[in-house]
Amino acid sequence: MIVVERVADIRARCEEARRAGRSVGLVPTMGSFHAGHLSLMRAARAADDFVVVSLFVNPLQFAPHEDLAAYPRDLAGDAAAAEAVGVDVLFAPPLEEIYPPGKPVVTTVHVEELTSGLCGRTRPGHFDGVTTVVAKLFSIVGPCRAYFGRKDAQQLAVVTRMAADLDLPVEVVGCPLVREPDGLAMSSRNSYLTTDERAVATVLSRALREAVDEVRDGERDASTVRNLLDRRISTEPAARLDYAEVVDAADLSPVGRIEGRVLLAVAAFVGRARLIDNAVVTVSTSGVEADLGVLVSESEAQCAAS
Ligand code: AMP
Repeated sequence: MIVVERVADIRARCEEARRAGRSVGLVPTMGSFHAGHLSLMRAARAADDFVVVSLFVNPLQFAPHEDLAAYPRDLAGDAAAAEAVGVDVLFAPPLEEIYPPGKPVVTTVHVEELTSGLCGRTRPGHFDGVTTVVAKLFSIVGPCRAYFGRKDAQQLAVVTRMAADLDLPVEVVGCPLVREPDGLAMSSRNSYLTTDERAVATVLSRALREAVDEVRDGERDASTVRNLLDRRISTEPAARLDYAEVVDAADLSPVGRIEGRVLLAVAAFVGRARLIDNAVVTVSTSGVEADLGVLVSESEAQCAAS
């Protein structure tokens, strides 16, 4: 695996790969890799010939009061982990390569509607930062498959819509949400949690599991399920609920009834970490299917088998 820092360099390598008839897989990340990131890299490795992982902590998607300075960084550890799963190139540009000094960003990408609710409400401007940097990465890497985790369900929906609306030559691929053995959704921000907070943090996945069970038991009223999520998370005094929402899984609009594919999405502050989690339920005439993601052991077993 090689580490590349320059835009011109990664662009040339991707072009060369495609000229040689190789497909390109891109995994955009902010580093501090855990098994969720590695599962995306393995998915890319399984489907594509030339696998590029980008590692860039994008200041544009952090508000001034957020955790940009504290965000965990470990380039050497990340490079070793990416190499071990067979990544070809780690694109880790310095800040000035993406945002040259003296050249303020005056062109941004904004996706309407899908960004106004859920995390977009608490983090105004966040998704503009995400779509702007992802559009830049798509432009730099060129035609490819790009792998995103369903952990960030709203981000996946927004990026998918951006690629479609702008006819970008990128196939956006959603990958399973990977969980710790106790159900906590894996996240680089879990490193902010103390031991006690770490135990509290499992309330998000416990609440989602209960809500999914209610739907399996026949509950179809979205506000009843929403209230259950809200109540369950609020029983933990050390967790401060940001939102609990029940929305259409594709366009993220609020739903009244739980029918078709519906996203149950939650966010809460625990200590100094803001944590998000979700589950997707699909209600059809043949019954209820739920997607709560996979445990890290299942994710690794699936990869070993493929
Ligand atoms: P980040 O480095 O947090 O920006 O995440 C980079 C990519 O990894 C995004 O597509 C995330 O959705 C994905 N990701 C982060 N955590 C998980 C997880 N627990 N399971 C699956 N994908 C994840």
